[in-house]
Amino acid sequence: MTQIYVVGHKNPDNDSIMAAYAYANLKNMTDADNQYVPVRLGDLPAESAMIFEEYGIEPPALIERVGEGDVLVLVDHNEMGQAVDGIEDAEVAEIIDHHRIADVSTSAPITFINLPWGSTTSIITKLYEYFGIDTDRQIAACLLSAILTDTVILKSPTATKTDAEHVEKLAKVLDVDPVEFGMKIFKSRGGDDDVAVEDICGRDSKEFNFGGKKCWIAQYETVDLEGLRARTADIAAQVAKIQEEGGYDAALMLLTDIIVEGSDFIAAGDTDFIADAFEISFDDGPVWMPGVLSRKKQVAAKLIDYAG
Ligand code: MG
Ligand code: MG
Ligand code: MG
Repeated sequence: MTQIYVVGHKNPDNDSIMAAYAYANLKNMTDADNQYVPVRLGDLPAESAMIFEEYGIEPPALIERVGEGDVLVLVDHNEMGQAVDGIEDAEVAEIIDHHRIADVSTSAPITFINLPWGSTTSIITKLYEYFGIDTDRQIAACLLSAILTDTVILKSPTATKTDAEHVEKLAKVLDVDPVEFGMKIFKSRGGDDDVAVEDICGRDSKEFNFGGKKCWIAQYETVDLEGLRARTADIAAQVAKIQEEGGYDAALMLLTDIIVEGSDFIAAGDTDFIADAFEISFDDGPVWMPGVLSRKKQVAAKLIDYAG
């Protein structure tokens, strides 16, 4: 019996945490030969902590690195820059993801399910159906919460019809109104005033390689961007610091208002690369980008195209 870690990306978001938990649970019910252990690579997001507490679930354990002999299932990423340290020495047994196909490679054929849906947990919802396993209240809460955070309550352009169907189905299991449930999840993150600038920039940051350019893109979702703008100068200084100290060609912070639906772009480093890709100018500082909610679909994809 091999122990297999199910792990999301660094700086885990709710989708990475819930996908690891729910997929390990599904695998343990469908694969008697191995033991699947959900793990995480960073602090629990507030909303994950709230769901685990409310539904009496033991959160995935924190790991820092893996090595020779470790076997992994990757969820919610397939990009080396976002994966656990030491992954090059470990074995990747499976990948379940909803991002671009990036640079994780394997020596043998594996199960690699990648669908352009709104969240990894949406794919996992479908896999429960596929294996004919009912989602109990605990699993339904995990899956629903993460479909809703990853799709910004189905408002993100990444949300698909399938995601909406899964939301409806899971909300029925919990007997909740999905929008109310979603707002409760977002509100569990607390007010912005309690969040340090380091956390605003660090909580949901990802590293990308765009045609040889090493880029850092972080996103912070708020329901009150206007209030947060009082701290734009501090946030911009922090973004510049991260860009310099991290050796990034460019750093881009998205302050996303999920109610108004749009993002402030705050950039540092090779800002011309970003400005040219979006046909905007950072000469007067941060730029408001109406309608931009998705880092993946509306930002990273554009920078990949532009770099290529
Ligand atoms: Mg994620
Ligand atoms: Mg995701
Ligand atoms: Mg996200």
